[in-house]
Amino acid sequence: MSNQNILNRSMQSVWHPCTQMKQHEQFPLIPIKKGDGAWLYDAEGKRYLDAVSSWWVNLFGHNNPRIKDAIKQQLDTLEHVMLAGFTHEPVIELSEKLSKLTGLGHAFYASDGASATEIALKMSFHYWRNLRSETPGKTNKTKFISLQNSYHGETLGALGVTDVAIFKDTYAPLLTQSAQMPTPDFRLAEAGESAEAFAMRCADALELYVTKHHHELAAFIIEPLVQCAAGMGMYHPAYLRRAREICTQYEVHLIADEIAVGFGRTGTMFACEQGDICPDFICLSKGITGGYLPLSAVLTTDKVYQAFYDENTVRGFLHSHSYTGNPLACSAALATLAIFESDDVLQNNREKSAVIQAEMQVLTNLPIEHMRHQGMIFAFDVVTQSAQFSKQCYQAAMQQGLLLRPIGNTVYFMPPYTISEAEIDFMVNATFDAVKSTV
Ligand SMILES: *Cc1c(COP(=O)(O)O)cnc(C)c1O
Repeated sequence: MSNQNILNRSMQSVWHPCTQMKQHEQFPLIPIKKGDGAWLYDAEGKRYLDAVSSWWVNLFGHNNPRIKDAIKQQLDTLEHVMLAGFTHEPVIELSEKLSKLTGLGHAFYASDGASATEIALKMSFHYWRNLRSETPGKTNKTKFISLQNSYHGETLGALGVTDVAIFKDTYAPLLTQSAQMPTPDFRLAEAGESAEAFAMRCADALELYVTKHHHELAAFIIEPLVQCAAGMGMYHPAYLRRAREICTQYEVHLIADEIAVGFGRTGTMFACEQGDICPDFICLSKGITGGYLPLSAVLTTDKVYQAFYDENTVRGFLHSHSYTGNPLACSAALATLAIFESDDVLQNNREKSAVIQAEMQVLTNLPIEHMRHQGMIFAFDVVTQSAQFSKQCYQAAMQQGLLLRPIGNTVYFMPPYTISEAEIDFMVNATFDAVKSTV
């Protein structure tokens, strides 16, 4: 099939995500034929370094033999069975492993991140409802709070706790209201104020709000350490500690949305570890299968689980998705976790992160600010008046064979953990040229 033919057919039949389709009249789609390691290959054989891990999902490269083999093996025994009334080894093994890693014992599954957010919000709400039916007179804990600039997914419930205007405003009349707490994103700190001092100041504002409203609050949902969709807004782990203390003190659930930051991205297996906290719910997806198959999970405490465990059916969590706990996806997740165990991934990433940081110093010769990193996430903000910066920078990088997807003026790398030193070199140099030609 010729390139033009593929493009025409895609434009006719496929509605692409997060896209004003008309813009593809000017900037054609790129038909990808295959992936290998950190690279994507288009229909004409041109290759692109995947510096964003295909929207943050791909941890160990494309065409990874170990994950591929695990899926193939599972395919020969059981591709799928519904998880209501049935169970299977991959889902049990994965739940046990995730439980060990997170300290949370009960795993509920869906297929994407937004659904994980929905599940955590519904479970929290339902927990307080179940508690209320035992102790009438207890006040209504039905509301949610989140951080300014937060992102928790695109479904209506998830958008209700999201705070990104371009995704949210159109649908405002459909959404459940939630309040946003000041974000500890340290780009917003006062001149001379440390990230930690700023985090504590934001935590004080959180405390003030929670003190006043805790009787109506079900949960506080946060992206621990990095608000990725907000343009890699990073903050000090002291905020997590204070948020945990405040939520515990005022009986408000803490939901950690680790959909983007989980599985080693911030330098620890889960970002919450850096604040030394355990949330009441953790939402996982994206990297969970190494980028192979859609899967998400919400894990919670025994205390929450027990509030649903009852003779009465409607006290149970009557939520489901057709593909809940899909065995193929679970086997991909198990293979992903096996790579973490056998390859000392977190330690290797620490070394790789240092290499990337050192290489990135050359970028400080460009008009940029807020150079920052957290584990295997690297970002800086380009100082430019151009409203077209992100599109033009994307185009310029693609021409050089580098897949970047700037968010506003923020350029970031979230590379596969398997990226080599030569590839790092290429990534940084091509970024230098792309930014230089765009500002
Ligand atoms: C991507 C993301 C989601 C939504 O996940 P989907 O699989 O795209 O629905 C939710 N929260 C965070 C922090 C994310 O980065």
